[in-house]
Amino acid sequence: MASSTLTEAALRDLAAQSFAVPVLSVYLDTDPTRGSADEHHARLRAMLKQVPLTADAEAVQQYFEQKHDWHGRGVAVFSAQEADFFRVYVLQVGVRDQWWVSKFPYVRPLVSLFDAYGYYGVVLVDKTQARFFLFHLGVLEEQEGFVGEEVRKIKAGGGSSAPGRRVGAPGLDNYLEGVIERNLRGAAQAAMRFFARHKVRRILVGGSEENVALFRRFLPKRWQSLIVGTFPMDMRAGHVEVWRKAMAVGLEAERRREARLIEQIRTQAARGGRAVVGLDETLGAVHEGRAQVVVAEEGYREPGYRCPTCGFMTTQPLEACPFCNSPLEPVADAVELVVHQALDQGSDVELVPRPLDEIAHIGALLRY
Ligand SMILES: [Zn+2]
Repeated sequence: MASSTLTEAALRDLAAQSFAVPVLSVYLDTDPTRGSADEHHARLRAMLKQVPLTADAEAVQQYFEQKHDWHGRGVAVFSAQEADFFRVYVLQVGVRDQWWVSKFPYVRPLVSLFDAYGYYGVVLVDKTQARFFLFHLGVLEEQEGFVGEEVRKIKAGGGSSAPGRRVGAPGLDNYLEGVIERNLRGAAQAAMRFFARHKVRRILVGGSEENVALFRRFLPKRWQSLIVGTFPMDMRAGHVEVWRKAMAVGLEAERRREARLIEQIRTQAARGGRAVVGLDETLGAVHEGRAQVVVAEEGYREPGYRCPTCGFMTTQPLEACPFCNSPLEPVADAVELVVHQALDQGSDVELVPRPLDEIAHIGALLRY
């Protein structure tokens, strides 16, 4: 089975999978700067020895022995042989070694990667042209360019050397400004088409301060709000350099955005507004389909119960489901359940790599 690109649709589809049989989820760090393929393989074998699902451990082992080419920095594999389910995602961003057995593919590490590295749109802009990049999970997925009118040649144009014409006459300045404006407006329109087509979640703009400010002016408010950072960058920069700079600025912006979101949830919940904090409240809101964004501490885990009939979730050991009276079944990690259900409903999920005591480890911003 070949690996495929982990798009948002693929992630939501993975989160929506649930089986009557257990699923094995394996994440392996294969970063070549942290060890050879043999070393990574040895760690995988040691990990798989602990897995209680023999057929799935064998299927994963077989994939690495026969099909994996050891490119990439991380691998996620999901196997439920009894349900004829096997998926592999080779990643260009790092993951930590881990394995899980549950009724669902364990997706939390992938959600974290989406938070940090998913769907970055980058523009490099100057007075005549622009370049657009789509970076997703560490890979340059798409690249396009826009070329406007030449700004310089107008200066040397026949008309401007006419006798008696003053250098820097207002007419010439206006003309040049008009060309630059048309170019930047054209670049902004082309950028919007590129970013809409590729569903970018955030935008970074590189160039001189002046050009970046002009470019930004030609974007509608909706698109301006997706700009998370700007940085100086030469138009001819290579895509690796662009990616490095965009990530440095982008990750910092992501941390700031998370901090604002957490503060919003905390204050809204405190005054009884459109937010909840704590696991039980969040389980309830997600079950009712009211969660717009779920925010959780990356490593937060808590056992709980789930209704197999209607999907109701709780941490309380109730006799029966309060909605449909079915007997509840225990789940090892109710937080992972929340993540699945939220993704399945089309809600956003943010996993934050620090303790979130201020919202009791987990919370949600509500739609209503
Ligand atoms: Zn129920």
